[in-house]
Amino acid sequence: MPTYQIAVLPGDGIGPEVVEEAVKALLALEKPHPDLRFVFSEHPVGAACYQKTGTDLPDETLEACKKSDAVLFGSAGDPNVRFPDGTEIAPQLTLRFVLDLYAGIRPIKKYLGVKPLLANDPPIDYVIMRENTEGLYASRGAGIRVGDEVAIDSMIITKKGTERIVKYAFEIAQQRNGAPLDGVRRVTCVDKANVLKSQAYFREIYDRIGDQYPDTERDYAYVDAYTVHQVRRPDFYDVVVAENMFGDIISDLAAGTIGGMGMAPSADVGDQYGIFQPSHGTAPDIAGEGIANPVAQILSASMMLTWIGERHNDPEARAAAKTIDDAVSRVLQSDTTHTGDLGGKAKTKEVGDAVASEI
Ligand code: ATP
Repeated sequence: MPTYQIAVLPGDGIGPEVVEEAVKALLALEKPHPDLRFVFSEHPVGAACYQKTGTDLPDETLEACKKSDAVLFGSAGDPNVRFPDGTEIAPQLTLRFVLDLYAGIRPIKKYLGVKPLLANDPPIDYVIMRENTEGLYASRGAGIRVGDEVAIDSMIITKKGTERIVKYAFEIAQQRNGAPLDGVRRVTCVDKANVLKSQAYFREIYDRIGDQYPDTERDYAYVDAYTVHQVRRPDFYDVVVAENMFGDIISDLAAGTIGGMGMAPSADVGDQYGIFQPSHGTAPDIAGEGIANPVAQILSASMMLTWIGERHNDPEARAAAKTIDDAVSRVLQSDTTHTGDLGGKAKTKEVGDAVASEI
């Protein structure tokens, strides 16, 4: 019987609240998937951990991430707790670099039952592939500031870094059924190739990789124009690939079109490790009230199972991922199980209980 070690890092803010519901969903799988077993171990990370221990990512936590089969991460940080240089606590960013989690996989799906956010309520089902380890954020902690006169951060685009994320994007497209609008398998390169040399290089590499996938349509959009397309014709998109910061920004806009941050799951994966956490942050404005939407975290746990299933060639883990997705779909069809961000009144725990009982 396969048993998977899962490191659980609840973190700060709403992290612990939504992680509890995701773990509940994973435990509920025992009935429909009795051959699947998890061993959970919980580890400290984030701003509260920094205040207590002087580090936001203890060695013991990092080791546990490396030793486990996968990591379920809530959210970390607190606008009131900062490093001496004024930057916010963000161990999730550190983990992406340290564990080389180069692919930020962000499915954007509008569920039936969730109130339409856009006119005409187009079907929305695409995946944003965000490069996670370079781009503009590679300058994190390394930019230059000259007194009160100048500050510089650089956009780093490498051949290796771009090739691997673009290749991953085309591979994901092979597993999908194309864009909702026309069923065409399509990978869109979102960049700023008309202005920046680094971005023209990103597009050049995209084209080289695209040559290896002649059956997949190539598509291009400048990031500024793309934000309009996301609102006006989201059903045209299937898979989208972008540099780190552009991927970050278009992911949040995309989440807005499907019901908000509480609906956007995410996976940060590399060739060896995988961390699964929602796209949202700690949401300090609603933390502690028990009203956060746990759906993004629960769907991130489902992505974790898909990834485990692929790595271990375990059809049971893949089937369990689908069990979670189907349960979430059913729960979202009734507005009695919608949290406040979706216009409902349900509490975090009620949504988690509903998903677990559907499972
Ligand atoms: P970070 O910088 O870590 O991304 P942030 O506060 O800028 O943190 P989020 O934590 O993602 O960004 O929150 C943005 C907004 O979305 C807030 O108003 C927050 O309440 C809301 N939000 C985020 N996640 C959820 C959720 N799971 N359920 C309900 N609302 C959420």
